[in-house]
Amino acid sequence: MAKMKAAIFVEPGRIVLDDKAIPDIGPLDALVRITTTTICGTDVHILKGEYPVAKGLTVGHEPVGIIEKLGSAVTGFEEGQRVIAGAITPSGYSNACLCGCASQDGAGTKHGFKAIGGWKFGNTIDGAQAEYIRVPDAMANLAPVPDGLSDEQVLMCPDIMSTGFSGAESGKVKIGDTVVVFAQGPIGLCATAGAKLSGATDIIVVDGILGRLAVARKMGADRCINFRDVDPVAEIMRLTDGRGVDVAIEALGTQQTFESALRVLRPGGTLSSLGVYSTDLRIPLDAFAAGLADTTIRTTLCPGGKERMRRLMSVIAAGRIDLTPLVTHRFKLDDIEAAYELFANQRDGVLKVAITP
Ligand SMILES: [Zn+2]
Repeated sequence: MAKMKAAIFVEPGRIVLDDKAIPDIGPLDALVRITTTTICGTDVHILKGEYPVAKGLTVGHEPVGIIEKLGSAVTGFEEGQRVIAGAITPSGYSNACLCGCASQDGAGTKHGFKAIGGWKFGNTIDGAQAEYIRVPDAMANLAPVPDGLSDEQVLMCPDIMSTGFSGAESGKVKIGDTVVVFAQGPIGLCATAGAKLSGATDIIVVDGILGRLAVARKMGADRCINFRDVDPVAEIMRLTDGRGVDVAIEALGTQQTFESALRVLRPGGTLSSLGVYSTDLRIPLDAFAAGLADTTIRTTLCPGGKERMRRLMSVIAAGRIDLTPLVTHRFKLDDIEAAYELFANQRDGVLKVAITP
């Protein structure tokens, strides 16, 4: 059986590079040879044991590569094509998919809905931090990369860009809106870019790392708040003359950022939550107007599927946004354990790493 290298979750605290069989594919699948991938903050949750996955699973959910082999029933694609697949790989045929809720894909379940069910790579099936990956339901998920776009230009599409942009989309950001984005990690930075593209005219961002606030300016932030210097809630209310914001995007997943996002909303505003939470959340009564302020709280899992990927790549091909400044470090797959060490500890100003064979 032919072998490949893959980053494997062994136990909490340990993701190691090891040999694994090159995946077999079924009639509806594709085998993709990975040319570039990356590490996500969610992979760090997995590494730390905060998000449970099966021991022995290959991690990673951000593939850029070349079609090595197509399943016997797959039409419309060619071996040798450059493609990406989303971090979320919906079946395309479940009830969830058919009512526009593809990330909660429950193909094969009684009712066709499963919370987080669309997230398969590096969660319920082997992922992208390897030499090869099996892409399920290839006809719903392979997205050809437009000529002229490099791997690094499209590396954020599978997850970070899709998730970040969805923060603005789910928040229904409108032309002329005031938007705040809490946390400017890679997803928060993309939420900032998404808010800008959606027409927000006053984008306030909050983080505690100066380098990230500097990148936020490039992504479209108008005003930056360093939470180490000021209380962000008081500062946002001051900057908006006591009005509050139309949309508050939460891009971290903590009680504090969630609660702050709620506190700075104008009445009738939307809290658009992207964070991955690992404890219960509490809604403080005083920030909630007794439940009568017409507040919308909306959560979103990264949208996937080939049409989403096509749209995101078209944004990049059209020059509307350049996300390559997010790639701050480059590693070979052989050195992925060092990449995890750097990324998990947020050393050396790291935003995203590019991993190549
Ligand atoms: Zn991710």
